[in-house]
Amino acid sequence: MSQSIQSVRGMNDILPGESESWEQFEETVRAWLRSYGYQPIRLPLVEPTPLFTRAIGEVTDIVEKEMYSFEDSLNGEQLTLRPEGTAGCVRAVIQHNLAAQRPQRLYYMGPMFRHERPQKGRYRQFNQVGVEAFGFAGPDIDAELILMGARLWDDLGLDSVKLQINSLGQLDERVKYRAELVTYFEKYADQLDEDARRRLHANPLRILDSKNPAMQDIIKGAPSLSRCLGAESMAHFEGVQQVLRDVGLPYEINPRLVRGLDYYNLTVFEWVTDRLGAQGAVCAGGRYDGLVGQLGGKPMPACGFAMGVERLVALMRESWGDPEPQGVDVYLVHQGDAAARLAPRVAERLRDEGLDVLFHCGGGSFKSQMKKADASGATFAVIIGDDEAEAGEVTLKALRAEGNQDKQDKKQKRVSVDQIADEIMNVFFDGDDI
Ligand code: ATP
Ligand code: MG
Repeated sequence: MSQSIQSVRGMNDILPGESESWEQFEETVRAWLRSYGYQPIRLPLVEPTPLFTRAIGEVTDIVEKEMYSFEDSLNGEQLTLRPEGTAGCVRAVIQHNLAAQRPQRLYYMGPMFRHERPQKGRYRQFNQVGVEAFGFAGPDIDAELILMGARLWDDLGLDSVKLQINSLGQLDERVKYRAELVTYFEKYADQLDEDARRRLHANPLRILDSKNPAMQDIIKGAPSLSRCLGAESMAHFEGVQQVLRDVGLPYEINPRLVRGLDYYNLTVFEWVTDRLGAQGAVCAGGRYDGLVGQLGGKPMPACGFAMGVERLVALMRESWGDPEPQGVDVYLVHQGDAAARLAPRVAERLRDEGLDVLFHCGGGSFKSQMKKADASGATFAVIIGDDEAEAGEVTLKALRAEGNQDKQDKKQKRVSVDQIADEIMNVFFDGDDI
């Protein structure tokens, strides 16, 4: 026997039982995005490698060690499986001149790829919903994006997700801060881990983002960026907070929140929960006014966020369990040659009326088919034997009737093929007895 092939480590199948929660999540998310006027954009999973090195920054976890990059052996192009969605979205906005006429509110969802150590809540293929707004400079859009998060957690029935915000100011302000940080961390040079030592001079802000528990005390003592912010940056940050206060959304300012990508400026935010262990960040984002220009477009303010679907679905399932499997409306049972000829036509007719029909395949006795009908969770069985088929009729049986067995046995009747859909609709909508 040949050996069976397993999925790639950190890349998961999502099976029935769990996949229903994913669909529920996606339906909620689409309705939520529509309610804020965001439009879908569909982007490739593969982009030219330089897009990510330029957008995300050379000295970042993603570019240093997490990208799935390869050369297309057919033409020698350098390609990368997207580790995040913002870079590709910005590329598309520039390439198609999308925001030239008016600002754009866009969203996408789908898989991202990062070569990380797989663990609970951290995978090599994982899914994000990304939301991006192009062409808005003021703090009102930052606040909108943050408020959106709060509403989604509410729509999903999640109450453990808390908001942290910070301001990274502008580049010149960060240059000043950077010098202060280097001086500070140099005092602890012997206690820095390998990543931090490497980043001390290349990108010291990134040290604040370290997840190494051994580094947390040093990080806590670091000077805070807010001291280096000028009046304009402060006013922008205050503008965001004003909206949050006005609508009564609680937030915490986390001066250590710097985010793991280079492209952010001014507002950054993260939504975190304490219910998922170490992998507590479910959504993160901020403003990236420099990125469009940096990738070759006409400079334009922009702001967005991405959420981790695996972590949010895990939270949903922890809070609510999986949704009850939804049975179909009708299980179609048939036996005999004439019945087999009529049955597919009846099934299609019921589907024409908008009913969900599970068609029995594979033959077998009436008894065994009825057992399957019962187990399927269907509301009705439509039963066709040869005598029904010859009369142009079917037997309609309620499978989920309340009450005693006696009554249940009576809950069936023969109806003509023309009436079957009406009959079912009457039972559904008017509560008629069969
Ligand atoms: P983390 O701090 O957990 O490493 P990150 O800062 O690298 O996250 P972002 O790049 O901001 O994450 O991505 C936004 C969201 O995507 C995260 O908040 C998280 O919910 C999710 N996410 C990121 N990486 C993974 C992963 N490897 N597996 C599952 N979800 C992930
Ligand atoms: Mg990460």
